[in-house]
Amino acid sequence: MKSTKSIIPLTDVVLIGAGVMSATLGTMLKILEPGFKIEIFERLGEVGAESSVAMNNAGTGHSGFCELNYTPQQTDGSVEIKKALKIAEQFEVSKQFWSFLVESKLIQGPGEFIRKVPHMSFVWGANNVNFLKARYNALSKHHFFSEMQYSEDHTILQQWIPLIMNGSGKHDQVAATRMDLGTDINFGALTNSLIKYLTSQKEVKLSLNTEVIKIERLDANWLITIKNIRTGAKRSVLSKFVFIGAGGGSLPLLQKSGIPESKGFGGFPVSGEWLVCNNPEVIAQHTVKVYGKAEIGSPPMSVPHLDSRLIDGQRQLLFGPYAGFSTKFLKKGSFMDLFKSIKWSNIYPLIRVGLDNIPLTKYLIDQVRQSPDDRLAALKKYYPEAKLSDWKREVAGQRVQVIKKHPEHGGVLEFGTEVVVSHDGSIAALLGASPGASTSVSIMLELIERCFGAQVQSDEWQTKLRHMIQSYGKNLDQDAELASHIRTYTTIMLGIG
Ligand SMILES: Cc1cc2nc3c(=O)[nH]c(=O)nc-3n(C[C@H](O)[C@H](O)[C@H](O)COP(=O)(O)OP(=O)(O)OC[C@H]3O[C@@H](n4cnc5c(N)ncnc54)[C@H](O)[C@@H]3O)c2cc1C
Repeated sequence: MKSTKSIIPLTDVVLIGAGVMSATLGTMLKILEPGFKIEIFERLGEVGAESSVAMNNAGTGHSGFCELNYTPQQTDGSVEIKKALKIAEQFEVSKQFWSFLVESKLIQGPGEFIRKVPHMSFVWGANNVNFLKARYNALSKHHFFSEMQYSEDHTILQQWIPLIMNGSGKHDQVAATRMDLGTDINFGALTNSLIKYLTSQKEVKLSLNTEVIKIERLDANWLITIKNIRTGAKRSVLSKFVFIGAGGGSLPLLQKSGIPESKGFGGFPVSGEWLVCNNPEVIAQHTVKVYGKAEIGSPPMSVPHLDSRLIDGQRQLLFGPYAGFSTKFLKKGSFMDLFKSIKWSNIYPLIRVGLDNIPLTKYLIDQVRQSPDDRLAALKKYYPEAKLSDWKREVAGQRVQVIKKHPEHGGVLEFGTEVVVSHDGSIAALLGASPGASTSVSIMLELIERCFGAQVQSDEWQTKLRHMIQSYGKNLDQDAELASHIRTYTTIMLGIG
């Protein structure tokens, strides 16, 4: 711990990285405590340009409607829906916060970042059809999913998903579910809106092209050393609270902080690619998001989906993601990222995870080695008449999956997110990438409760939290009436009816 005193500017909050997570946290904190001085440091020349930018993620408003990996089938054939319920509730929380911002005119019109796109799941083969039916039966009993539709009827499916049904006569048995309440979200546009609001407030400063290179304790505060990437100039700021919201770059920064809570964490990078359609006639025929079943042995985030998207005002059609392996932690990062993250404290969990996940590593390497024809074959399972000339490859964002110490296995690979907080709540980091930006509001609420516990208990913050999120402190999954009231409100405010 350093203890030299010098005249270094003191701020209340430092946000490292200007992605959707920092933007959400900064916005919430500024509303809760308008007097907070906030500094945001971003290594790139623009905000929301890493994982949050539209083309780097799938833009799905994850709500448990279509993601089959959230509802695993049990050995007795029943379907476990706990995870789908949790994510559905978290997305309702996100929609409430965004609705509050729109209603209060703190951010631009919702059409800039969210639009209604039905969410569908599509499967073929008797076993998968049985699974989808069991999933539908389990989910549709709950008020979150009561509007879900199920069909095995080719005529109905032809209307819902003509691209998929045309030429798919080879499958005897097909089935799909459909939730009209699904959404497509441009998280890059949302991030830009949030940062625009933040920087219009007093005492909020955004520094672009500015990389955080060191984080050290200085008495009760944190000394942050930053480097201007263009000029090489370095400077420091002191902060009472630091959020490491650097996406894939969070793990190395957390390790630099030296907090005991950071020990034992490692990262497993998984890259992704899309096939992007360039034929307007084909794009116009697909107006939904269709999620399929992950191949056996593939990681959960590589569930194939054929998605209608709106990116920069243009209707788009994307298929993927094709998983891959790269040692980078950020798309715009360095190939040395993985190697530099290996420390004495995480080497054992890393080795254990490596040994326990050889099939996954093999799967990722096979994905990287896929030829254009292999990619087309994967697409043709969902769009049988696809032509390679209508599609081009685009690199998606990089995800760094969390590796954690485990008492029995030595180390485990996690596919969710992990909020790591120091014992005094003065520094926090977000690791992992799933379910991601859709649940950013709930994740940041959890972080605020853990780091600003005393203020959260105050009447002032409680009132503001209930104003921002009407269901704050309540369980929407237990209260059908409140859930319905809130859905009506957010559907109107966000224009997704
Ligand atoms: C292929 C793919 C598909 C996805 N699909 C979905 C989806 O459909 N729905 C969904 O909800 N989520 C999805 N996600 C996840 C979602 O994209 C992420 O959860 C979300 O964007 C993470 O936001 P973030 O702010 O944590 O990270 P980022 O948006 O990556 O922001 C972190 C920022 O920190 C900056 N930074 C890094 N290091 C430093 C440093 N040292 N100093 C200063 N700045 C730094 C980076 O430049 C970056 O701008 C997907 C992700 C991927 C990769």
